[in-house]
Amino acid sequence: MSKAPGNAAADLDRSAAAQNMDQIQAGIASQKLRAVVPQNQIAAAPAVPFSQLNFSTSRFLQLVAGGHDGVLARYVEDELVVIFWVRPAGLGGSILGAQMKAADLFNAIRPGIDPFASRDACLAILDDHAQPVALSIRKYNASWKNPFVATEIGETLPHWEATLYLLHPDAISQSAQLITETLYGLIGLAIGAIAIGSLLIALDTHRQLRLAQKKTDFVSNVSHELKTPLTSIRMFAELLHERRVTDPAKIADYLRIMRVEAERLTRLINNVLDFARLERNQKHYTRRLLDLQPEIERLWESQAEHLRAQGFSVEADIASGPWWAMVDNDSIVQVIVNLVSNAEKYSPEKKEIEFRAAVEDGLIRIEILDRGAGVPAGEEKKIFESFYRAHDSLSSGIPGSGLGLTLALRIARDHGGDVRCERRAGGGSIFTLTLPEQSPS
Ligand code: ADP
Repeated sequence: MSKAPGNAAADLDRSAAAQNMDQIQAGIASQKLRAVVPQNQIAAAPAVPFSQLNFSTSRFLQLVAGGHDGVLARYVEDELVVIFWVRPAGLGGSILGAQMKAADLFNAIRPGIDPFASRDACLAILDDHAQPVALSIRKYNASWKNPFVATEIGETLPHWEATLYLLHPDAISQSAQLITETLYGLIGLAIGAIAIGSLLIALDTHRQLRLAQKKTDFVSNVSHELKTPLTSIRMFAELLHERRVTDPAKIADYLRIMRVEAERLTRLINNVLDFARLERNQKHYTRRLLDLQPEIERLWESQAEHLRAQGFSVEADIASGPWWAMVDNDSIVQVIVNLVSNAEKYSPEKKEIEFRAAVEDGLIRIEILDRGAGVPAGEEKKIFESFYRAHDSLSSGIPGSGLGLTLALRIARDHGGDVRCERRAGGGSIFTLTLPEQSPS
């Protein structure tokens, strides 16, 4: 049976290595050395004569002096030769050795390289001329001087290197790029999340502080608003009780003031209680389908009478009905009373109030116009926030809780409507309540 050419070459290499070994063993034999020395002859063992190697015995003895075993590499006739030696105990210092050509040595280690199978890299052993002597991928070719990584094999094979070549260097740099970009992305996301978290915490803290401030203001505003009507009610009640006033017109006027102040107190307490109910979602409406037009007319008449008594000039433009709406009448009355009493409260000088009511495009529209202080520019929406007061009690001297408009807006929205505030040309404000009109059927 004929052998494959590759196998034949390997066989040749192996026979060359064997020849080297034979040479060394023959050398040792010619000096009548024994590999094994009986224990009783150890003392008489001869000194080490070792002359079959191709470099001088004295040089060799110098190199192995004092050692127990080792490996030496030397160039012999321009070929690298590796010498393995050992000084076994009991041989009286004799040295046993074996010499191999580096190429043969490599044949011995080739099976260790073959299992290195990778789709991404080729492992190569380069000789001292930077030429491959073994490859983990057969027939692989590369610029041998530019490996991806390289390491010297060691003193035994000087200038020989184990090297690694990437098969797809671009793919590696692409995945490195991808990893870098992903890392940058993740770092960016982490920083973004931290920044957003910090912002939310800062906003929440700011909101909590504002709320705490508003609540403190509310307590002082409400105390003020409770005290004022109570003081006047008590004062007029005492005057009447002590019969110090006898003029019937004055008595009637004092009684009216007491009624107005009592109404103011009731309104404030109702607002506070209703606000608490709305906050706890406990406000219940008793809605029914009704014609709002006569209700609005009646309400305005009583308000106009009160306003006139307070020195206001009033005007009204109420369209004819019917205006059908599905509403809780008491709640709608509460909204309109809050808006009218604000128009009165915030008009300390120019006391003019206009009331308009009509139906337009399926919306019942009720407008209260005053010529008062007006809402500061940019605060037309803020004044609907709970406890917010654009004119606080201390600076304006006008009492209030900051809840009237909050309630008005909530009630209107709960009925599918709205309340809006506009600055009025020529000074003052316009507050508009809208409610959806229903068909009577
Ligand atoms: P308050 O009890 O303070 O009147 P509101 O909720 O009714 O509470 O009103 C909130 C704020 O809106 C008031 O403090 C006031 O600054 C402003 N405001 C309301 N109505 C008017 C108005 N007709 N003219 C000017 N400012 C008004």
